[in-house]
Amino acid sequence: DREEPNYFGAGPALLPTSVLQEAAYDLIKYEQSTVGIGEISHRSKPAIKVIDDTKSNLIKLLDIPDTHEVFFMQGGGTTGFSSIVYNLIGNYAKRNNGKIGKAAYAITGSWSKKSAQEAQRLGFNVDIVVDTKDLKYGDIPPYSQWKSISKDTAYLYVCDNETVHGIEYKDIPTSDYLPEGVELVADMSSNILSKKVDVSKYGVIFAGAQKNIGIAGLTIYIIKKSLIEQPTDDELKSYGIPLVPIAFHFPTVIANNSAYNTIPIFACHILKLVTAKLLENGGIKQIQAIDEEKSKILYEALSKYPTFYHLPVTNPKYRSNMNVVFTLPKELEDKFIKESTEKNLIGLKGHRSVGGMRASIYNAVSLDSVKKLVEFVNEFATNNA
Ligand code: PMP
Repeated sequence: DREEPNYFGAGPALLPTSVLQEAAYDLIKYEQSTVGIGEISHRSKPAIKVIDDTKSNLIKLLDIPDTHEVFFMQGGGTTGFSSIVYNLIGNYAKRNNGKIGKAAYAITGSWSKKSAQEAQRLGFNVDIVVDTKDLKYGDIPPYSQWKSISKDTAYLYVCDNETVHGIEYKDIPTSDYLPEGVELVADMSSNILSKKVDVSKYGVIFAGAQKNIGIAGLTIYIIKKSLIEQPTDDELKSYGIPLVPIAFHFPTVIANNSAYNTIPIFACHILKLVTAKLLENGGIKQIQAIDEEKSKILYEALSKYPTFYHLPVTNPKYRSNMNVVFTLPKELEDKFIKESTEKNLIGLKGHRSVGGMRASIYNAVSLDSVKKLVEFVNEFATNNA
């Protein structure tokens, strides 16, 4: 057992204590088995049931339509954005007589930037349609101001919530901007299951589990079924497209119910328990309302002291509901961390690349924890401003 932590780490992040307790028990002895969940074959009946139940929970929570498939792969967000390039460019070529499509990237923070760099590194033709570096990643211009996307583009890639910069999309491009046939791909590693999403609008949604929904080791993918098919290896060679390593070859993984190779079943089990608990507690609607309330009271508190706290995401519309990034006078940073830690408010230091503070308030962080942080934010500004 443990005292409920007030933990604001960005990832790996807090998980519900009740889930961890159940999982800890299952790690030692799982259901009728003589051994634990991490010790059973990934092809055994109980393991298959864990995979199927997790899928079914996700389908219910996100209202995933029949047009889309859910699957899991080892790895994290990085495995996601690397493997997506090969698979989607291959699929585009399959549907377009071997033509190599372009990959459009919107850079709104460090994770979308890394994804674009990786696609380039792998040798694909990358088109940067927006880069908000000059806005210090503090705003997202309207789609009408983005570079137009050419029709020979396979997909537009966005990072729905930039974990380091604390900026989150609140809408998606409509057909005015996104040409028909260009698929929308979103990295939702740090905000999946925090809000309602119209899955039908996306070609691919993927998310590493270790922030909002589980522990590291597993990544979830939701993909439009028409995007799964791949050319044969010979076809790929004739098109000049590199072959994707087999463990990341979407059709192979999907045909084997996410267990072509050994799925980290304990990580999947945790995801199953987290999603079951969300369903039990009223689904996405309920958690979204709580998440919105948490970020609202925290941003309001920080905004009360505009000469003391600074919010680098200048457009309030795009402030993340998950990662609340702020700065305060540099000479007071150590004091802020020291005093917050003394009050048992843990994990507030910002990412090393941007400095400042970051309160990650994922689903498992309670409103009560955020209220305690709000109290501290007020108190610290009053005592030090
Ligand atoms: N995308 C986003 C939005 C992230 O926040 C992270 C991790 N912080 C990643 C991708 C990379 O995840 P991983 O470390 O699991 O590869």
